[in-house]
Amino acid sequence: MPELPEVETTRRGLAPHVRARRIAALQLYERRLRWPVPARLPAAVAGQRVVGIGRRGKYLLLKLQSGTLLLHLGMSGNLRALPASAPRLLHDHFDLVLDSGVALRFNDPRRFGSLLYVSGDPLAHPLLAHLAPEPLSRAFDTAYLWDLTRGRRVAVKQLLMNSRLVVGVGNIYASEALFRARIRPRRQARSLSRLEVARLVRAVRAVLKYAIRSGGTTLRDYLRADGSPGYFRQRLYVYERAGKPCRRCGNRVRALTQGQRSTYYCPHCQS
Ligand SMILES: [Zn+2]
Repeated sequence: MPELPEVETTRRGLAPHVRARRIAALQLYERRLRWPVPARLPAAVAGQRVVGIGRRGKYLLLKLQSGTLLLHLGMSGNLRALPASAPRLLHDHFDLVLDSGVALRFNDPRRFGSLLYVSGDPLAHPLLAHLAPEPLSRAFDTAYLWDLTRGRRVAVKQLLMNSRLVVGVGNIYASEALFRARIRPRRQARSLSRLEVARLVRAVRAVLKYAIRSGGTTLRDYLRADGSPGYFRQRLYVYERAGKPCRRCGNRVRALTQGQRSTYYCPHCQS
C-alpha cells in the first residue's frame, strides 16, 4: 500500500511537471473509484492553472486557481507523468492532461483511490480536517508523543500506527522506527521513558526521511512518478527479515503478530 513516503515521493516527482502549467483536459475513463468521481469535474478543472502540489497525510493536493484536486492513491494506485499519447493500460482510470503535452495518469487495479474537487480551503475538507499531526512536522515532537503515551496500555507499535494520533506511519515504518529506537514493539506505551520517547520521535522522522530520499519503499511493484522503482526496501533492518541475521548484531530477527499485522524486531537490540 502506498504510504506517506511513497505519496511524498510522488509529490516531489510530479512537482516539476505541473509547475506553472494549465490543465488542457481531464479525461475520465473510470468514474467508479472509492467515491464516484464527479461527472462535472472535467468541465470544472479544464483551463485552470496549476498553482502547486502539496500533501496532507496520504492525500495529494493539486492546487488550482479556483480550487484543489484531492487525490488519494488508495491501496494500489500510482500517479505518473508521461506523454499524453502513451498507450493506455488496463486500470488506467484518468488522465490529467497538461498544456505541455504531459499527462498525469492514474492507474489503480483495486480502485480504492479517489479524485475529488474542493472549491474552498482543502484543509477544512472533512477528509483532512481531523487528521493527526504530520510526523515530519514540528507538531510531532517529544512532548507530543510523551503526552500521548502517558497512561496508555496499548502496545507502542499500535499507538504509532494509529492514524488518529499521528498520520502516515504504516507497518513497515513502525517496525523500522522501533528497531532504530531500540524499543520492543509490544512494550506498553506508558512504559516508555522520556528518553525512549525522544529516541522514537527521532527514529520515526529518520526512517520516513530516509524512505523519501530513497524514492519510497514498500511495494514490490511500487513505481516512482517517473516509473522507476523505489529502493528503500533493500535497506530495511527488520521488516520481513524474520530468521535472518540482524544487520546490527547478527542475532536472528523475530516476527510476531500484533493486531493482525506482522511485526519484526531483534530481541537483542530492542528491549
Ligand atoms: Zn540486533
